[in-house]
Amino acid sequence: MGKIIVAIDGFSSTGKSTLAKQLAKELHYVYVDTGAMYRAVTLFAMQNQYIDNKQFNKEKLIFDLKNIKLHFVFNEEKGFGEMFLNDENVEDEIRTLEVSQNVSQVSTISEVRKKLVEQQQKMGTKRGVVMDGRDIGTVVFPDAEVKLFMTASADKRAKRRYKELLDRGDKNVSYKRVLKNVESRDYIDSTREDSPLKKAEDAVEIDNSDMGMQEQFERVLSYISTVLEK
Ligand code: C5P
Repeated sequence: MGKIIVAIDGFSSTGKSTLAKQLAKELHYVYVDTGAMYRAVTLFAMQNQYIDNKQFNKEKLIFDLKNIKLHFVFNEEKGFGEMFLNDENVEDEIRTLEVSQNVSQVSTISEVRKKLVEQQQKMGTKRGVVMDGRDIGTVVFPDAEVKLFMTASADKRAKRRYKELLDRGDKNVSYKRVLKNVESRDYIDSTREDSPLKKAEDAVEIDNSDMGMQEQFERVLSYISTVLEK
């Protein structure tokens, strides 16, 4: 088989992006982090005061969507594409807890999803892509040759995300706040009307609560090899 699409979906902080980056590197494929795109739209909404912890003016965001230009620029040193919002590198800014707290609301909007899904589908026209998100195997590429659905306990996931934020030097976070955010995002993401997070029927489920990253990588790679051999 020639180049394929690897679609990775799952709850937040299940290590989707770590696995996706490892796979893309090994297969010489392009890695696309679709969460970064929803985060960038959220940052745009926050910068324009369309959303904060008290209000969300959906109509204004929808009206302004045409003024949002997103693209990834490959960073050789980091080994992945960094997110640019209207030609500005926002890779760090989109990872804060504040953006995480608003992103699920923004992701419920169909107009936002339509715009981003179209862009994502274009990136996969030549296959050779590893894409992670919430609706990749169900909506963006229902015909993906490999679909993975990743889960882990909320506690394990919150601990991972908390450590990540601390490592980045974020001082205003507590484990409790991170856990609350992980749980509330999971809830909104899996109950929204448009493209809710759910396992595609033909996806392989991976629970990595007690699995090391290396073991997971090797297992998935061997599964992908069997698909490529067909
Ligand atoms: O993957 P990450 O945790 O960065 O995604 C941030 C948020 O973006 C998710 O919680 C979800 O609300 C939204 N998202 C989505 N569809 C995708 C990717 C992300 O709705 N394909």
